[in-house]
Amino acid sequence: MTTNPSAAGRAAARRSLEALALGDAFGERWFPLFREPRRAANEIRDRRTPAEPRWHWTDDTALALALNRSLDEHGHVDQDHLALCYALAFDADRARGYGHGMHLLLPRLLDDPAAWRTLAPELFDGGSLGNGAAMRVAPLGARFHADLDLVAAQAVLSAEVTHAHPDGIAGAVAVAVAAALSARGGLDLGAVADRTPEGPVRDGVRRAAATPFTTRPWQAADLLGNGQRIRADDTVPFALWTAARHPDDLEAALWATAEGLGDVDTTCAITGGVVGAATGTAGAPEGWLRRCEPLG
Ligand SMILES: [Mg+2]
Repeated sequence: MTTNPSAAGRAAARRSLEALALGDAFGERWFPLFREPRRAANEIRDRRTPAEPRWHWTDDTALALALNRSLDEHGHVDQDHLALCYALAFDADRARGYGHGMHLLLPRLLDDPAAWRTLAPELFDGGSLGNGAAMRVAPLGARFHADLDLVAAQAVLSAEVTHAHPDGIAGAVAVAVAAALSARGGLDLGAVADRTPEGPVRDGVRRAAATPFTTRPWQAADLLGNGQRIRADDTVPFALWTAARHPDDLEAALWATAEGLGDVDTTCAITGGVVGAATGTAGAPEGWLRRCEPLG
């Protein structure tokens, strides 16, 4: 299988990855662990940059790096290799905020990566429908942006290793397609919905497409979900709505996403990865870039 991306595809993937990490690290600052919700809401409203000198990224970035590394080596999604890369990323630092399902699954893939075929569908009685396959996939969409069919197919393969439920997979397809369209300079939520498999994620993206950009972001989060349930269908629509609201402005997009609170590292990682496929981090505030943990 030959799916080596163009130089433009590799550059777009790198832009997306850097912005995904920045969004993840920025979003993490608003978690109750660091700020109680009222203080977080006030500081976000006032656009006050978190003062902590170092913003660490979380599992979203760790797994996005693993996926990117596997694609660099193989040129396409090799599911057994990818399962090993996910497991190695988890093993390297288990304190990156992984969800319960990944704590169960990823250690078992370390010794037997091919076991994802039986273990992933057993998670949560039918496979995970969480937002974990969506949160790491934007750089894949950017990488293959020249071919939207390829983007959707590769996103499915990247998701299945950990998220066997159709909703978890659909979340990955929606985000990857959005990142590809962003890299092409034409992010359109209706077009994302058209290429997302049928189900609650696609329904949510359609609702996002119908939500006017004059809506306040916190109100849009009320309508579309903010990731509080950690499910793909309550995470992806709002994160893509803010991306489409600010397709050329990473900083504005991330502030808007933060207004939704909820699973805010992941919503910001998704928004960052999608907008960043077009913008990279070049326009982000210098104080954000200085604080963000380097990708290494
Ligand atoms: Mg996270």
